Amino acid sequence: MEKDITKHKLKKIINKLSKYRGRNTELVSLYIPSGYPLPKVTQQLRDEAGTASNIKSKTTRKNVLSALEKITQHLKLYKHTPKNGLIILCGNISPQEGNPDYKLFSLETPEPMSIRLYRCDQEFVLTPLKEMVEEKDIYALLILERNEATIGLLKGKRIELLDHMTSGVPGKARAGGQSSVRFSRLRDIADHEFRVRIGQHVNNFFLDMLPVLKGIIVGGPGLTKNKFVEGDYLDYRLKEKIGDTFDTVYTEEYGLRELVDKASDSLQELEVMREKKIMKRFFQELIKENGLVAYGEKEIKNALEIGAVDDLLISEALDLWRVKIVCNCGYENILTKTEQDLQKLETEIPEKQCPKCGNLQLEIKEKIELVEELSEKAESTGAKVHLISVDTEEGNQLFKAFGGIAAILRFSMR
Ligand SMILES: [Zn+2]
Repeated sequence: MEKDITKHKLKKIINKLSKYRGRNTELVSLYIPSGYPLPKVTQQLRDEAGTASNIKSKTTRKNVLSALEKITQHLKLYKHTPKNGLIILCGNISPQEGNPDYKLFSLETPEPMSIRLYRCDQEFVLTPLKEMVEEKDIYALLILERNEATIGLLKGKRIELLDHMTSGVPGKARAGGQSSVRFSRLRDIADHEFRVRIGQHVNNFFLDMLPVLKGIIVGGPGLTKNKFVEGDYLDYRLKEKIGDTFDTVYTEEYGLRELVDKASDSLQELEVMREKKIMKRFFQELIKENGLVAYGEKEIKNALEIGAVDDLLISEALDLWRVKIVCNCGYENILTKTEQDLQKLETEIPEKQCPKCGNLQLEIKEKIELVEELSEKAESTGAKVHLISVDTEEGNQLFKAFGGIAAILRFSMR
């Protein structure tokens, strides 16, 4: 999967949470790091409640105490802190005085969190969470010279030095008595052997990361990098991921940084290229008679159901929810709504008549984002899910002309 659905979902939640404001400093944010004992958290909440009882404003005091109480109650659902950590945000988000609307948001973090934080403010603390969901693409970095090699990793914006190797290949000076032909042949062999050794190290580091590795970027001052890229020194699955090569001057940590600087434009292009490439395949199938494509919510659902989808293309701009409405009389209906329409429906539903029995007993039983529903189905049938941005013309077309959902199929459905 090119972009993480969980993170995509979290981004939307963060966006929503960032809009909430308390009337005063009364929104509580609590970050519990992985492995931190919950009894200590409960104790801290008690202490905070003690402090909050001194707040002068009666409403603020009441709101903070209520939030703390709700958090304490919520924590009782857990035997211990979830594996990666837990974030709880709670408070009165109602814009009207005297008409409180307490909300509690509880999120298990997608990756191990080390931050411990308690804050009571006018808004929720979201920055650490935002940093967590930033796309963290992983690239392998190689700087190759005749006598030296540096292997590194780029994760998001962080560069990590993994290995620095030296060849032991003799330098330019030739030992006395050796013929120059023989010398240069020996050196070629030694150079080749060094590249083999580099290849082994790179395989060792990156084969395990294959599913998340976006590409391999190669740099260096001379021809060694080209010989390495053109030769068969890497596992073929890694070789496929080699992107551009760059001329660089430095080695080790500094060289890795130089390489990332030089590659930054092409890294951005790579993401765009990937999107363009998969969309191009879709358009190529589309114009064929009996092309292996499907689009639109209904067709895609059918295709997923019978396991026909190979690549599912979902626009990041897609903003649809699946909503199940039920009534006591047994009436059931499943609708697709935009987020805005869903909110409208949620406020209007108590006054809506059931089409079957005519009573005012309709309620929303389930709601799930379409992106999520479709990707779950896709993953259970082994289809690949691609979230496509609207940054490219192709991505725009997916959203505007195909309703934001399309697929490349394994077999024809017609
Ligand atoms: Zn009914």
